[in-house]
Amino acid sequence: MRFLDTTLRDGEQAPGVSMTPDEKVEVARALDSAGVSFIEAGSACTGEGERETISEVTAQKLDATVTSFARGIQRDIDHALDCGVDGVNLVVPASDRHVETKVGSSHEEVLDRTADLVAYAKDHGLWVEVIGEDGSRADLDYLDRLAAASFDAGADRVCYADTVGHAGPERTAEVVGVLAEHGPTSAHTHDDLGLGVTNALAAINAGADLVHATVNGIGERAGNVALEEVAMALKHVYDVDTVDTTQLYRLGEVVARTTGMRPAPNKAVTGENAFAHESGIHTDGTLKDDRMYEPYPPEQVGRERRIVLGKHTGRAGARAALSEHDVEVTDEELGRVVERVKEMAGRGKRVTDADLLAVAEDVTDHERDRRVELLEVTATSGSSVPSAAIRLDVDGEEVVASGTGSGPVDSAVSAVKSAVKDFGDAHLKSYHVDAVTGGTDAVVTVEVTMAREDREVTVAHSDADITRASVTAMVDALDRLLTESPRATPTADD
Ligand SMILES: [Zn+2]
Repeated sequence: MRFLDTTLRDGEQAPGVSMTPDEKVEVARALDSAGVSFIEAGSACTGEGERETISEVTAQKLDATVTSFARGIQRDIDHALDCGVDGVNLVVPASDRHVETKVGSSHEEVLDRTADLVAYAKDHGLWVEVIGEDGSRADLDYLDRLAAASFDAGADRVCYADTVGHAGPERTAEVVGVLAEHGPTSAHTHDDLGLGVTNALAAINAGADLVHATVNGIGERAGNVALEEVAMALKHVYDVDTVDTTQLYRLGEVVARTTGMRPAPNKAVTGENAFAHESGIHTDGTLKDDRMYEPYPPEQVGRERRIVLGKHTGRAGARAALSEHDVEVTDEELGRVVERVKEMAGRGKRVTDADLLAVAEDVTDHERDRRVELLEVTATSGSSVPSAAIRLDVDGEEVVASGTGSGPVDSAVSAVKSAVKDFGDAHLKSYHVDAVTGGTDAVVTVEVTMAREDREVTVAHSDADITRASVTAMVDALDRLLTESPRATPTADD
């Protein structure tokens, strides 16, 4: 069982997604490194820019077979050849709706043309997969003939396409069963009914041996089937190995960053909460036995388990979170920390590391001296190049830094980064903005995670000014990373 990843083609067709050539190359390399067998790098017929991008992907000399999407016309195959691809995903109409209404053709015409195009592509040394578009809604006898004609003309494989994600597993198995009688068969499923994975598995069970998928399941409408979900379902439920699953989370992060489409927090495998535990019972159980509330260890997909603080936090979870920061508290203090965390969360506030540490300091009466304080931030934008300057107090000395960027926030963040340069490897790991209220007077909450050596700290700050919120959160995080954690003396009852 292998994968054809189409993040760079079908995935990029998701509304609002557009990747630069460098980003596409980065995604292709990450897919290749994870062991994905086929990478559909784009659609060569789209235009000159797309062809240059596909050419850059083929120039990487990846282990994966790199392909281009091609419509059922010779010019598309020529464009694909210009990009130096190894193969084409030749898409021809399969359902009557596509044959008659979209293309204005007939079954016989499509069969003849498909055979000619397959022969043409094979003559030019290409690997060829014939995809019957909208195959899940096509007449089965016609699909049968299309598959026969494709293989007779020399095609390497055919593909069952549930283009609009309309089929269920029974129909999928029925169609794939017919196609697989003729030769190697792929499955291309979409998630409009939330059946993407189910249908991919049904297709494999019926004889398919290649699954088309995208990372994080991005794609048109509800998206394609997610590569990481099929890979983990196969591994966990059926003991079938496909790609290097320990790279799945990293892959998801690369695609989220380059497409700007973050998966939903509850998304399987790559979502932020997929291995997070907040509820007291679950956290307590997980701390006693990792497998208690997890299907498989997060390390299998290259992740770590996360204990999240919130209104369901119990003592075990709070103690575990504190010990991440080397903070020890007595049983009595722990009770007060939990109470305060729940109360904070109850007010609708997300409880970050910084909040937890501040509560612990308060409860344990620990006075902490700040090492870094923000004195001033100024940012300008408009007609000139956006720039920002910050003034910090670091151990009693004034540090001034400035930066430029694509806008005021970007400039301010680069100013903080340049100030941080003096603090070893402290760096910004993630940055999120949420508007707390709507309207132009919105208050925004900026949440940053900064890391230094093996420590990581999350801080959130709310302000009407997004630049000030960003800088304050970063400076607070930096201060946390530079100061020793409060360490209350354990007592006898602890
Ligand atoms: Zn598709």
